[in-house]
Amino acid sequence: MPELPEVEAVVRTLGPLVQNRRIRFVHVLHPIATKPQAASHLARFAQGRRIRTVGRKGKYVLLHLDSGLLTMHFRLDGQLLWFSNAKEFLERANQGENAVHVDLALEFGNGVLGFADRRHFGRVHAWESGEECPGLAALGVDALSPDFTASRLRKLLAASKRPLKEFLLDQTRVAGIGNIYSCEALWHAQLDPRRRANRLKPREALRLHKAIVSVLGRVLECCLHPAPDFRDPAWWFQGLETILRAYGREGKPCHRCAAPIRRIAQGSRSTYCCARCQK
Ligand SMILES: [Zn+2]
Repeated sequence: MPELPEVEAVVRTLGPLVQNRRIRFVHVLHPIATKPQAASHLARFAQGRRIRTVGRKGKYVLLHLDSGLLTMHFRLDGQLLWFSNAKEFLERANQGENAVHVDLALEFGNGVLGFADRRHFGRVHAWESGEECPGLAALGVDALSPDFTASRLRKLLAASKRPLKEFLLDQTRVAGIGNIYSCEALWHAQLDPRRRANRLKPREALRLHKAIVSVLGRVLECCLHPAPDFRDPAWWFQGLETILRAYGREGKPCHRCAAPIRRIAQGSRSTYCCARCQK
């Protein structure tokens, strides 16, 4: 599931392709991608409007139009694809044996942007303003924004009795962190994921802040080198597993103290941590 750094890398790659481009036509191949909005509404809304800027908040991609905006959320498996022109798009998308799965596409003068999610959890929506989008309006401070300071995190931690891991997954507190990078940040900060957020000492909160910023920064660097290639239908980020110190490493030795990494259940999610050096 793409978290904040993956979505940021997508946004940085997408910007130069579509900024200041007019949406000539919206192709809807699987209307489920706009649910609960009607696909016809989204098409009418977006057609003819120009994309001013491409932005991001939390895990949302924001396409700011000359009026209103489109939001994209990839959920588990959503991704973006790029076709050179409408002809190539119509030939390859959802046609024949070697078809490329596409749910919805925005046609521009310079190419076609496809949104695809085989499992159909990902969504594209149209809004007159960001405040209209409940998921977006509810987001807390973005973990890559300058507003995410150590003192801001300390105040948020102090106001929550939830276990650290669950606190980090709550998008209404800090936006953009998912299961993988919450495990990683807690490993780097040497904090037990089960600790209650409001029990952290100021220096521990500072350590957690530093760990979050450094983990997300490192992953973003990895996601941008090489940058996503939307022209390749099979594109995905490479090399991220080499960065991971805890996530998915059950039974393998901790890189810090050599004790085996443990997998514990928290809520409905798996948390990976070192029982010896995360306190
Ligand atoms: Zn350890």
